[in-house]
Amino acid sequence: MEGPVIVFSYRHSNTIHKTMEEQTALINQTKIDSVPKPSPWGKPPQQSTPIPSCLQDVMNEQLSEDFIEKEQKNVLDTFESEKKEVDVDALLAAAGADETADDELMARMLQLEYDKQNDEELLAKEKLVNKHQKVSISFENYRSVHPAYRDDEDTEEEDDDDYEPPKSEWDKKSPSFKKNGTVGSGKNVVTKHDKVICGRKNASKLMDFPPEFHSGDGESMDMQLNNRIYNKLKRHSDAENKRHQRLHEKKEHSTAGQVMDARTRLILYKLVNNGVLDSISGSISTGKESVVFHAYGGELNGETLPKECAIKVYKTTLNEFKNRGKYVDGDHRFSRDDFKKQNPRKIIRIWGEKETANLNRMKKFGVPCPHVQVLKKHVLVMSFIGKDMQPAPKLKTVKLSTADMQDAFEQTMKIMKTIHRDCKLVHADLSEFNILWYQDKIWIIDVSQAVEITHPAALEFLFRDCKSMTSFFQSRDVHGVPTPEELFNDITGLEIQGEGLEFVAQVQRFQKEKNEECLVHQTTYSKEYAFDYFFEKSQKERADALDKLGISDGEDEDEALEEEPEDVE
Ligand code: ADP
Ligand code: MG
Repeated sequence: MEGPVIVFSYRHSNTIHKTMEEQTALINQTKIDSVPKPSPWGKPPQQSTPIPSCLQDVMNEQLSEDFIEKEQKNVLDTFESEKKEVDVDALLAAAGADETADDELMARMLQLEYDKQNDEELLAKEKLVNKHQKVSISFENYRSVHPAYRDDEDTEEEDDDDYEPPKSEWDKKSPSFKKNGTVGSGKNVVTKHDKVICGRKNASKLMDFPPEFHSGDGESMDMQLNNRIYNKLKRHSDAENKRHQRLHEKKEHSTAGQVMDARTRLILYKLVNNGVLDSISGSISTGKESVVFHAYGGELNGETLPKECAIKVYKTTLNEFKNRGKYVDGDHRFSRDDFKKQNPRKIIRIWGEKETANLNRMKKFGVPCPHVQVLKKHVLVMSFIGKDMQPAPKLKTVKLSTADMQDAFEQTMKIMKTIHRDCKLVHADLSEFNILWYQDKIWIIDVSQAVEITHPAALEFLFRDCKSMTSFFQSRDVHGVPTPEELFNDITGLEIQGEGLEFVAQVQRFQKEKNEECLVHQTTYSKEYAFDYFFEKSQKERADALDKLGISDGEDEDEALEEEPEDVE
């Protein structure tokens, strides 16, 4: 770089070739300059080199050459020194230029920081504006820093400063997507369906499967699972989980076939503790769906219970009840929807309620059956048919004289008609197993599955009952046993023709027509029955009462029971 000082220096050096006059003038000037001035401090300074004093000396060629040489040396020295000065300046200039560059850089950095801050504020505003909007407004165009530039910068920083040894990609937090399911903008936009993001997300979710699922640790590998594989694994895990729970539930809820789970034990304990029962003797029957105990009655609300009672405990394992939905479906007292949304414990409770309702209705119309005393969830206390802990024999096993059997047959026919015509019910499981013989009388038991005659399958159930009863009495050589078809027509007052399968088909056809008709008159039809009206009313009152207490139906005592110790014996 050529500075002005240097140019000036070169002009100076041109003075080397001076004219004679100029040289003489210069010598004279030198002479004058060389005369020591009187020093105000006494002695003049000592001259190291003597200065020529006469013109001849000065004009001497040798002297001239010396002079010229000296002058040249001076000029060169000056040049050198000037050159040094120039370099320093150049350096300074250069340094000055660097400083300028630094300032500019700094200014730019500050501007960038400011822009970033501005963008952040803008983003916050954008979020605020779009918070409750279905259509979001983008402030993208008002941003000062291009997101790509900003993002790159951030990643670089991250990469440089916070580099960690490979943490599995799937283990990192997936980016938070905007409402429209995207993240980033412009070229960098990524949707939530992005293959890599989804794959990593699936891999991450895999790690949340129950511990029984051996997923491996996937450490330090970029594990990605596509949706198909993930869904397959999830289904497998869910199925395994269910199986595990089923096994656990079975273990928990059925105690050696005695249905004596903690809940049941607690209810029984409370019944005895509250004096409702004096004591519980032991089981008299263990069926598929229930266990029946014998007990001695106590007192409830000031009223004495029968001396001997039967306690029917509905099994709390659901397996035995899972096929019984058909007895509830279509019975408007226990609607299908209710049945569907209940949990297993509540469904089992429905059987207790259903049996109670049916027994009460039958009692009301004079059908010999146990008298309901108390119903506590899935535990029903009723009068005992039998004596001294000996339950009355079933019709199947009782040894009756021909006359008594004849009597039993006639009683049964009459009862079947009463149940249908007066109680408006169909037993639906009537057989020699569910009829007891006690004190020369037929006693009808086990009515939890009995249905309203409005039930869509009521007539089919009735025909089945007719078949089983006629077949039994025929097998006992009873006289005058009708055919099932005759009995069916006799009970219902219908005149359906044919027999066997043809009869069944006709029954089904008739039932269908009736159902359609019932659907039209549903409201008036159900109000015909005082029982249904009161039953529904009492159910509603119960629900309202629970509502007032802030307890949802089915959670009242159950929840309380859960808190109590389970091992009460
Ligand atoms: P399951 O649904 O298990 O068949 P049941 O109601 O038929 O239940 O009762 C099973 C057995 O328990 C009956 O066969 C009968 O021997 C006895 N049993 C049930 N209820 C009574 C009762 N009230 N009095 C006497 N024995 C009863
Ligand atoms: Mg039975």
